[in-house]
Amino acid sequence: MRNIAMVDLKAQYEKIKPEIDAAIQQVIDTTAFINGPAVKEFQAALEKYLDVKHVIPCANGTDALQISMMALGLKPGDEVIAPSFTFIATAEVIALLGLTPVLVDVDPHTFNIDPVAIRKAITQKTKAIVPVHLFGQCADMDEIMQIAGEYNLFVIEDVAQAIGAEFHLSSGKTVKAGTIGHVGCTSFFPSKNLGCYGDGGAIFTNDDKIAAKLRSVVNHGMTVRYYHDDIGVNSRLDSIQAAILKIKLKYLDTYAEARRKAADAYDAAFSANPGLKVPSRFAKSTHVFHQYTLVTTNLDRGKLQEYLAAKNIPAMIYYPVPIHLQKAYLDPRYKPGDFPVTEALSKAVISLPMHTELDEEQIAFITSSVIEFTNQ
Ligand SMILES: *Cc1c(COP(=O)(O)O)cnc(C)c1O
Repeated sequence: MRNIAMVDLKAQYEKIKPEIDAAIQQVIDTTAFINGPAVKEFQAALEKYLDVKHVIPCANGTDALQISMMALGLKPGDEVIAPSFTFIATAEVIALLGLTPVLVDVDPHTFNIDPVAIRKAITQKTKAIVPVHLFGQCADMDEIMQIAGEYNLFVIEDVAQAIGAEFHLSSGKTVKAGTIGHVGCTSFFPSKNLGCYGDGGAIFTNDDKIAAKLRSVVNHGMTVRYYHDDIGVNSRLDSIQAAILKIKLKYLDTYAEARRKAADAYDAAFSANPGLKVPSRFAKSTHVFHQYTLVTTNLDRGKLQEYLAAKNIPAMIYYPVPIHLQKAYLDPRYKPGDFPVTEALSKAVISLPMHTELDEEQIAFITSSVIEFTNQ
């Protein structure tokens, strides 16, 4: 049996090696390292795939979020609503820009931001909501867009874990995650569902005016060379990464299918197990399984992780500490117990290996090992 990795980027690369190597070599041969044709080609291909008017590439997913908030004109004192159960980047950029992060709890089944809690958190100062499509499945964008419309708020979707997921709108239309809010932000970090071989990110929007502002902020606030209308940043996707992404984008749906197949096998093995709750599938969204995350009940999660580690099966805790209990984000507005769902999840979740190259033998070994532990 091949070694089991949390994410097996090497096995994935080996299957597309000639294509990738040629694309990288072509960028080197032309020396168009920054803003070369590969960047434009990938941008156009992603616009087509997502069916969105504008894709603005940038250096990483954290920058994508920061640039979005800058381009939307959010100012210190403005409140931005975000989930308490997410990767830190979401809250980090809010704090970094001097905006006020307003955290809200998540749904215990989907792990995504709870629209009822969003409503309760809105004040006169609220300017934006940042739903995170956690682990590969969309937050309830119908409800979120409804609330945003009522209170005239911006919606910035954090699609770093859910690129390619589809949301079924109440209008009957099915659209790609990240194209529903005013802006969508994604990351091409190597382990993401669409990952490059370094750092990368992108911002999506259907709004021409917002797109123009994003393009300015991403490039030193410059629309005409050496004339700076906005205070911006320098955040670029380089040509080598774009060339790699253009190839991997062709396989994104096939990759999602492989992840779903692994998730189905995990579900089948664990759904009747009283110690484990398999991830819920939200009827309004497809799931692209960035992570396969179990919620443990009445079993020692740490011991399970150790048991698996002894068999060379990696398992990870995403995320062990909620944002409001992180040292840098301690805030007199919040205390332990404020977000009971997030706090319970952070103590109970465990994510199993999930990637595009898991084979049946590996999955059988993982599932039987987990079951062995629960039967002890
Ligand atoms: C990975 C991730 C980011 C940040 O992306 P980087 O490219 O690492 O900066 C932001 N939000 C979420 C939910 C993520 O998973």
